Amino acid sequence: MRYVDNTGLTAPQHWADRAAKELEKLHEEAEDADKELAFSELWREDAIRDRLIALIGPKCWYCETKFVRSPYHVDHYRPKSAVVGEAQHRGYWWLAYDPANYRLACHHCNSGGARYGNQSAGAGKGARFPLLGQRASEGEVLDGELPVLLDPVVAEDAELVGFDMKGHARRRPEQAYSDDEFSRGLCRVDETVRILALNSDLLVDSRSDLIKRVDGLVQLYLASGDSPEVALFARTEIDGLTQTTAEWSAAAAAAERLAFLAHDRSTMNAPPGGRARSDIAAGARSGTDTQAAPTAEHHLDLRTLVATLPPEAFSAGGIALTGRGKRGPARATLLEDGRIICFQRPLNTPTSAARMATGDDQVDGWTFWSLTVDGTTRTLADLRDSLLS
Ligand SMILES: [Zn+2]
Repeated sequence: MRYVDNTGLTAPQHWADRAAKELEKLHEEAEDADKELAFSELWREDAIRDRLIALIGPKCWYCETKFVRSPYHVDHYRPKSAVVGEAQHRGYWWLAYDPANYRLACHHCNSGGARYGNQSAGAGKGARFPLLGQRASEGEVLDGELPVLLDPVVAEDAELVGFDMKGHARRRPEQAYSDDEFSRGLCRVDETVRILALNSDLLVDSRSDLIKRVDGLVQLYLASGDSPEVALFARTEIDGLTQTTAEWSAAAAAAERLAFLAHDRSTMNAPPGGRARSDIAAGARSGTDTQAAPTAEHHLDLRTLVATLPPEAFSAGGIALTGRGKRGPARATLLEDGRIICFQRPLNTPTSAARMATGDDQVDGWTFWSLTVDGTTRTLADLRDSLLS
């Protein structure tokens, strides 16, 4: 995810005039609480879409895939006509014609269709807009809302996303969780990756190829010696792949940072950073030594907990986690570093893993998952509570 600076975004005057009239109609309709609101889909018009494209090029603001001929959407970040999970909510209808609420999105991010192997990766963002706290109503200030989904127009949100060498999007390990994430037991990056299927098969493969290419170009640049032509070629190629408008360039930029960092370390004769090559988030440092210890009662991830388990429990490569959802039994694997592998994808938090395994947006992973250690089967919540007491 790249930061999209939309602060100067305006609509063409002829579009804005019609949008103002449509909004006036909506305000009248909304006075009747039972009336279904009718929208005129002005956001589909090229007049506004072209201005969105001009910001970082023709690519999805969430997954960074380019639109060449495939259909693309103007997503309402705050959904206009409904909020999933809140039957009484009419959606953020008063933002329906506000370009500041528009995000360019591909079909998979907005409406689903992505896959993990043979498994559907879910329905996409659509009208999903979970919060970490209270929801605002019409006329209230939106700044007080704490969205779970990362927002590409918020620089700090875009900065939270890193990548591993296999091309998986993940939380940058040096970024501490916020207090609000602790209090809800939700990692915003995990939830965004899960809901938008940012680690679907095709995306992971594409990022992985790109990461290898950037790494190769950095090695070529570093080995160019006294050949300025080779250095210039490599530098130009890297610049092209990492510029904001390039496809999946957040992963390319992360790959470049890590490759130079690894080179700096090797030339300084520093001891090899054990996980540096496996985590290409900027900084590339192990999460455990940089992350603030959990301060709230709710442990967010499993790193503290796995440290209390006997190492031999992980001898088979990990501990089996089992649970039972509405669709039947679910399985995942808990690794020694505290991550959970579900559908062959790494997740930081039990709750995102449980939601991914079951397709249920409400399930709490701490009570969902059970594990057996020393012959005793317990839920993660039981284990956590015994640690806290
Ligand atoms: Zn997308």
